[in-house]
Amino acid sequence: MVNSERRAFVKQCVASIAFLAFPFKNITFTKGRISPEFKFRLPALPYAFNALEPYIDSATMQIHHSKHHQAYVDKLNTASWSGFEFSEHLSALCKQINETSPAIIRNNLGGHYNHSLFWNLLSAQPDVLPAEFSRRLNAEFGSFEAFKTQFSEAALKHFGSGWCWLILTENGRFKICTTPNQDNPLMGIAQVKGKPLLALDLWEHAYYLKYQNRRAEYIQNWFSIVKWSTCEALLNGMEV
Ligand code: MN
Repeated sequence: MVNSERRAFVKQCVASIAFLAFPFKNITFTKGRISPEFKFRLPALPYAFNALEPYIDSATMQIHHSKHHQAYVDKLNTASWSGFEFSEHLSALCKQINETSPAIIRNNLGGHYNHSLFWNLLSAQPDVLPAEFSRRLNAEFGSFEAFKTQFSEAALKHFGSGWCWLILTENGRFKICTTPNQDNPLMGIAQVKGKPLLALDLWEHAYYLKYQNRRAEYIQNWFSIVKWSTCEALLNGMEV
């Protein structure tokens, strides 16, 4: 793509994810308190429930989006936000999570951010690796295959529920890490911090209907439907 096309493409990605994750523009926030009319909302999926077949089955997508993600959003709307500085970006809210944050906010804000990102990192059509993102992967891991191997091993090794991430660290490096439950690398409580560029849901609710205990097969198949252009857009500044 020439530069102008690339800019237009990134702009389009930013607009689309902003719409999906932040349907609450024009709401006025009061510091430490949600205004009475404020509600977090479940973003629409950018494709049909069955669009990711055969890699992720329709029933899993339907339950995952309309039950699990919806539940995080609903619980978030019952939380008391005292002490939080509000932002239009879920990422900015995640950064304020620390050891003393209420569990209801830590767990459900994580759940809302992580899934809002996850849906946009999946593609119904095969997606090619964008040049700059690919160059950065090669610089850090040696090759795409080496990255894929390391990421898959980390995802497979993670015990229990959680997420596997590729992040951009404060030093501008690419790094693979995992977090438990619905924590993410933006949170102050994260052992390894950075901006998520790629996210894989390791909860059994993400794959059990089709894969049962075969997490390795789920990970392998998930690589076939990653929307790499979203990774590059995140690298270029897109925020959720
Ligand atoms: Mn999930």
